[in-house]
Amino acid sequence: MTVLVRPKALGDYNVREFRMLIDGKWVDGAEGRTIERVAPGHGVTVSRYQAATKIDAERAIAAARRAFDDGRWPRMTASERSLILLRAADMIAARADELAFLDAIESGKPISQAKGELAGAADIWRYAAALARDLSGESYNTLGDGTLGVVLREAIGVVSIITPWNFPFLIVSQKLPFALAAGCTTVVKPSELTSGSTLVLGEILEAAGVPAGVVNIIVGTGPEAGAPLTSHPDVDMVSFTGSTGVGRLTMANAAQTLKKVSLELGGKNPQIVFPDANLDEFIDAAVFGAYFNAGECCNAGSRLILHRDIADEVTARIASLSAKVKVGDPLDPETQVGAIITPQHLEKIAGYVSSASSDGATVAHGGAALDLGMGQFMAPTILSAVRPEMAVAREEVFGPVLSVLTFETIEEAIRIANSIDYGLSAGVWSRDFDTCLTIGRRVRAGTIWMNTFMDGASELPFGGYRQSGLGRELGRHAVEDYTETKTLNMHIGQRTSWWMPR
Ligand code: NAD
Repeated sequence: MTVLVRPKALGDYNVREFRMLIDGKWVDGAEGRTIERVAPGHGVTVSRYQAATKIDAERAIAAARRAFDDGRWPRMTASERSLILLRAADMIAARADELAFLDAIESGKPISQAKGELAGAADIWRYAAALARDLSGESYNTLGDGTLGVVLREAIGVVSIITPWNFPFLIVSQKLPFALAAGCTTVVKPSELTSGSTLVLGEILEAAGVPAGVVNIIVGTGPEAGAPLTSHPDVDMVSFTGSTGVGRLTMANAAQTLKKVSLELGGKNPQIVFPDANLDEFIDAAVFGAYFNAGECCNAGSRLILHRDIADEVTARIASLSAKVKVGDPLDPETQVGAIITPQHLEKIAGYVSSASSDGATVAHGGAALDLGMGQFMAPTILSAVRPEMAVAREEVFGPVLSVLTFETIEEAIRIANSIDYGLSAGVWSRDFDTCLTIGRRVRAGTIWMNTFMDGASELPFGGYRQSGLGRELGRHAVEDYTETKTLNMHIGQRTSWWMPR
């Protein structure tokens, strides 16, 4: 039996009211509508946001455009911008408990995990502050004496930043500080399900010294508030994280004015396990990789591709460890798996499990929703006898559901791993160096973990192959993504050749 941590009622918690940040002012939406967020783990309203429409989106874009064009941010020195980002990082760290609490109640993730994400986010802001000082171009001394070629990197302009609900503060931190480090101005639209911590970030950035209009934050649904940010001619770039479907739509909208797009999309990530692997370590990583953030994770290791010789033993061991996972109250420090984001999403997850069962998969553990008296929860679930063509093996379930497939040869494992549309990340487990490197080179994904899973660092680029996205975040080139290059081609001294005869 899965360990249940029953949610405690939030008692007299007051619904927190949020306004939007446009041009340095905290304002209501033009139409005066609001969005209520019901906590997924507690079933009560915890946040109320102002709902933006196209009018608010356009105001925010106009503010960002002015702030870019008058140079109040792009023409500051890199050292000044870097100092502001460092101050912001300190303030994020100082308010980490408040921000983690907001992410936990609005998204349903465990509070201990939310605190870890906040620590990671503060580190990213510091890293971006350092990169702000290091943004540089190139010059060429190979062009001949009479010419000097200099390649500058300039801020691309106004950037729309659109983020999902699963890592609210972490994902905005993978984009915004790098855009700011480059000298861009921004309009940020977090998911309408989890906007609280991003709005608090607006307060932090104001206090850290970011000038008015440089960061504008609006809240609203995708079609109403998000779509204008992807199509408006005054936006120069869209940085989007979310589903592959909306990513595709974003790219199509942006194509009308040929904006640059950066897309971090879905994943269906394989973990390939060979008989010589350290199975004790793998089994812990398998449970973590599948159930972390209730499986609502682009990086979830939701496809196990096990060598046939070890498949039964490994499946049984994962099933018995799954039974020990603590599922329940996001605010309990002991909880490992929190609530599912919405009741509709829980239904979708349960639907994948039941259709896999009807297609011949076996539920080795879990398989159903859990009734904890409030909120919505799903039991950690492991499905065996899954075939590569089943929907549960190809599509993003985005819940705590692990599918087990098997292989006999390394070629077969690689073929199964590469047989889907996604290519975000993958894991390989073997003590053999050659096996790990063969998988590392042949599996088409942006990150390959070897004998570990889901480790990350601000220094390491992250992003997907194929329909998992376009571009990379983090790493030393992250700021460059928010720039254009400009060539200065200069002539030195008296001209020696002329176009017109002399
Ligand atoms: P989603 O695509 O439904 O929404 C993402 C954001 O886009 C939200 O802010 C939403 O309001 C907005 N949006 C929706 N429709 C829009 C439109 N027509 N125009 C503009 N914006 C619109 O995704 P989600 O359900 O919030 O998040 C889950 C998805 O995000 C999963 O597919 C997951 O894999 C992906 N994700 C990817 C990464 C990564 O780094 N690759 C990280 C986290 C999440």
